[in-house]
Amino acid sequence: VAEKVVIIGSGPAGWSAAIYAARANLEPIIFEGALSNENQVQLTLPLGQLALRFDVENYPGFPSGFLSAFLDSAIDEERRKYMFRQDEKHSISGPELMELMRQQAKNFGVRVVTDDVVKVNFKLRQLKVKPRDENWLETETVILAPGSKVNSLGLASEETFKNRGVTYCVVSDATLPRFRNQPFVVVGGGDSAMEDALFLTQFASKVFLVHRRDSFRASKTLVERTLASDKVQVMYNQNLHEILGDEDGVSKVKLRNTLDDSITELPTAGVDISIGYVPNTAFLKGQVKMNEEGFIKWKTPFRTHTSVPGVFAAGDAADNYYRQAVTAAGTGCMAALDAERYLAQQN
Ligand SMILES: Cc1cc2nc3c(=O)[nH]c(=O)nc-3n(C[C@H](O)[C@H](O)[C@H](O)COP(=O)(O)OP(=O)(O)OC[C@H]3O[C@@H](n4cnc5c(N)ncnc54)[C@H](O)[C@@H]3O)c2cc1C
Repeated sequence: VAEKVVIIGSGPAGWSAAIYAARANLEPIIFEGALSNENQVQLTLPLGQLALRFDVENYPGFPSGFLSAFLDSAIDEERRKYMFRQDEKHSISGPELMELMRQQAKNFGVRVVTDDVVKVNFKLRQLKVKPRDENWLETETVILAPGSKVNSLGLASEETFKNRGVTYCVVSDATLPRFRNQPFVVVGGGDSAMEDALFLTQFASKVFLVHRRDSFRASKTLVERTLASDKVQVMYNQNLHEILGDEDGVSKVKLRNTLDDSITELPTAGVDISIGYVPNTAFLKGQVKMNEEGFIKWKTPFRTHTSVPGVFAAGDAADNYYRQAVTAAGTGCMAALDAERYLAQQN
């Protein structure tokens, strides 16, 4: 018997698609990814990117407060014990928020499989997906929500200061008190690095934009706006070499000049690594239209239909522009509604 809806991915997009599809009686099954070493190294364990974040302060509906009692009552005891936080009054953490989304989906009867989908076949009339540990599964619709992963520089010191000054999401971090009126380093040369630098000028005392070349690939207007800010100082031909600090977090960075290998030190409270995202779409190659960076293409703006009838896409894998939990959840909802309408038309 074919499934009606198979959902691939376990970030905010996947769980909201699952909740909507379940409430429309489509009996969805979701593949949340495997608890494997490979996924741990790549930062693609189940529950997605938000689960990497300590405090989520911008997801509507979760102001900081006494959340523990609510979490105790909402989440299965077995899973709850892994998310215990010592501080009684806190902002919701990424793992907590994602666990709540998962639980909400389970409450509506969604079947959750802790495995990766490793292949798909969308060439036949009947769509098929292949989990690593099971046989091919036939389905009438598929919602692709595999998300993306951040590019990291691969420095040991980057790992040491993650969540203690090193950030991959400055929109969420820059407003933290410890960064106010402090210098901040942004690494990158594309649009998102420019946007991050401009955004930071509102909070930081000074923004050092560290770029390994002598010209930018970002759009001209963004570059002009960034360079026009007297708070931004561009460090051309420089690689981030090392991040330094102590228990409290980052205090300075060392840059290495790409032309003469000379070292420069800069004081900073934060380091924003903005060198791009990689969508988790390698397993979809040749099956659905993607752009040259591997982000899934929507056929029409603001509709989640892909190039394959019955296949819908949501979240960061189809959106390298907004990249927020709430927008991923929004497109997950849209994909489920689109799948529901598609099924109604077919039958
Ligand atoms: C460090 C960090 C902090 C952030 N902080 C914030 C914040 O404070 N607020 C905010 O709004 N946004 C934040 N973001 C952005 C936000 O996390 C993302 O926009 C959002 O998680 C994207 O959701 P998604 O549903 O598209 O997928 P993702 O969250 O990327 O999750 C997809 C998951 O699906 C699973 N998966 C992938 N491929 C497969 C497959 N083939 N089979 C089965 N499962 C698969 C994996 O577990 C993968 O991680 C942050 C991002 C990062 C990296």
